[in-house]
Amino acid sequence: MKEFRFSEAEVKARKVLDECGLIDPVNVPLHRIILGRKAFYEELPLERKEGEIVSVDGRSIITVNSNIQYEPKKRFVAAHELGHHEMHRNLKSIFSDTEEDLMNWYQAGPQELEANEFAAEFLMPTEVFYKFCEKRKFNPKIIHELADRFNVSKTAAILRFVKRGNHPVFIMFCKDNKMKWWKKSDDFFPFCELFQRDQPPPTGSVAYELFSSGKVYTGDESSQEIWKSDWFKMKDDEKDSIFFEYCLHAPSYNYTISIIWEK
Ligand SMILES: [Zn+2]
Repeated sequence: MKEFRFSEAEVKARKVLDECGLIDPVNVPLHRIILGRKAFYEELPLERKEGEIVSVDGRSIITVNSNIQYEPKKRFVAAHELGHHEMHRNLKSIFSDTEEDLMNWYQAGPQELEANEFAAEFLMPTEVFYKFCEKRKFNPKIIHELADRFNVSKTAAILRFVKRGNHPVFIMFCKDNKMKWWKKSDDFFPFCELFQRDQPPPTGSVAYELFSSGKVYTGDESSQEIWKSDWFKMKDDEKDSIFFEYCLHAPSYNYTISIIWEK
C-alpha cells in the first residue's frame, strides 16, 4: 500500500472516524454522527449561507440550510461544520459558511481550509478512496463513479482526486469566466505560467470555450484533447504534446473546474 502523509485536519478526521468505529461512513447519516459528538444537528432555511455552527462550553449547534436540494452537498456542509466543531469550537464561537467559503480553497482563512480538508477525509477516507482508483486509467468517468461511491458532489470528488488519486492532474477553478485558483497533484510537474487571478482562461482551453460559447461536452466527449501549451509553459526546445481537459460546469454558480492531465 502507498504511503500517505496527512495534514492535521485529516488526522483529526481519521481520529473521529476511528472513535465512531467507522472505516467508511458512506451509509451512515451524518446527523447521527454529529449527535454522537456532542453537537446538535438541525436543518433550517438559511439566507445567503449554506451552514452555520454556534458553540458554547464545548457543545455546538450545527445548522444546515434546508433549501439545499442536492443531498451530497448537504452531507459535505454537515461534515465541514463537524470539522469546525471538532477543531475550532474553543477558538471561535460562530462560523457562518456561504457557498463562496465552501468553494474557496485558496484564500479562505486557515480554519475554512481545515474544515474542508476535514470534510474531504471524513467523507472520502484516503485508503478507501485510493483503493477505488487503483489499477485504473484516469478518465472523467472515474470522477462520476467516485461521486456516486462516496455520496459526494463531482466537485468534491475532483478535489479529492488531486490529493489522493492515482494519476497526476492539474485543476483550475474559474468563476464568471475568470481564473480564481488552481491545485495540482504532487507529481504533476508542468508549470501553468498563464495563471493570473481574475483573467479569463487561455483561449485554447475547454473552459474558455464553455464560457465563450456555452459548449458543454458530456459522455464520451467529456475528455477533450488540448495542447500542452494551451495551459502550460514549454521548455525552449520542447515539442508540443497532447493533453486532456475535462471541464465540469456548475451553472447555478457559474463556475467551472477543469481537470487537466497527460496520458
Ligand atoms: Zn466553515
